[in-house]
Amino acid sequence: MKKRLCILFAFVLLFQSNIFSQANTTNKIIVITTDGFRWQEVFNGLDAAILKNKFYQNGDSLNTVKNFGGATAEESRKKLLPFFWSTIAVKGQIHGNRNKGSLVDNANPYWFSYPGYSEILTGQVDTAINSNDYKPNPNTNFFEYLNTLPFYKNKVIAFGAWDAFKRILNEKRAGFPVINGNHVDSFLLRDPQFKFIADLMKDSYQPFGEESLDGYIKYMSLTYLKKYKPNAMYLSYGDTDELAHAGNYPEYLKAAHRFDDFIKSIYDFVNTDPDYKGKTTILITTDHGRGDIIKTQWTSHGQKIYDSHQIWYAMIGKGVEPLGEVKSKEQVYQKELIHKLSKISNLNFIAKK
Ligand SMILES: [Zn+2]
Repeated sequence: MKKRLCILFAFVLLFQSNIFSQANTTNKIIVITTDGFRWQEVFNGLDAAILKNKFYQNGDSLNTVKNFGGATAEESRKKLLPFFWSTIAVKGQIHGNRNKGSLVDNANPYWFSYPGYSEILTGQVDTAINSNDYKPNPNTNFFEYLNTLPFYKNKVIAFGAWDAFKRILNEKRAGFPVINGNHVDSFLLRDPQFKFIADLMKDSYQPFGEESLDGYIKYMSLTYLKKYKPNAMYLSYGDTDELAHAGNYPEYLKAAHRFDDFIKSIYDFVNTDPDYKGKTTILITTDHGRGDIIKTQWTSHGQKIYDSHQIWYAMIGKGVEPLGEVKSKEQVYQKELIHKLSKISNLNFIAKK
């Protein structure tokens, strides 16, 4: 009997400490992804072996070398991703440089978008998710969990260039808005700033069909952040993947360069605004890699493309140790990333269906 009481008491303590730590968590959380951006460019900058192939030059190879080339990998990557290599490399962490032994990989066996985003956002692999057309995600995502906690309740939002995020995050069940670039929800259109961005997009060229261009997502998310002050936000960009599939290496690099600048605009705001300064943790990653060994395969990814399970991730902000570029041996899987963020933020997310 005594033993049972002890166990019960321990359970009560454990339960209370969980509630206590969650109730006291006031960490703001931002997750940012860009689709199919390779670790090779993150760490080595411009890949001359790809650019020398005239099929991938888009008639712009001289400018591309001028803008993003360098005598060393370090010089080139700094020109391509100045925020990564001047700020995150000093104040945060960048993982995935396989040449230094830091391995980051998809745990899912598919190496394309829906399975990758699901792995990131639900913190687990569900092998049933084997198509980009898969139904609304049966697994609970991290932002859905946050939306059940008092501090985050109704202060969670996602902006995705790709319309599939309404399914990937299961918007209907999850209970927070998932804004798709091309179909801005009516509650946002009542705000003249959002109406302006949506009108501009409607009247502009939309080369990727149901996927909006990244610039619109940048302005929507920044506007929302400044005006409505969410406590948790997910942002997903897509230009890098689309331009790589198109075989356009100069534009793929420019998209990555813009992505770096989008992160900088978010960081600059949260690092100066009193509601966010010193209280915000940012996770940055990608859904899958792309080909590399066979140079013509850089445009593609998926099970048949060797190397395309290889990814990277970065973190910066509250609670993130300033490790810089990780140069020691490690093996990290994509499904672990959201749990790392949860732990750093003093939260207790458990992956579940
Ligand atoms: Zn793709």
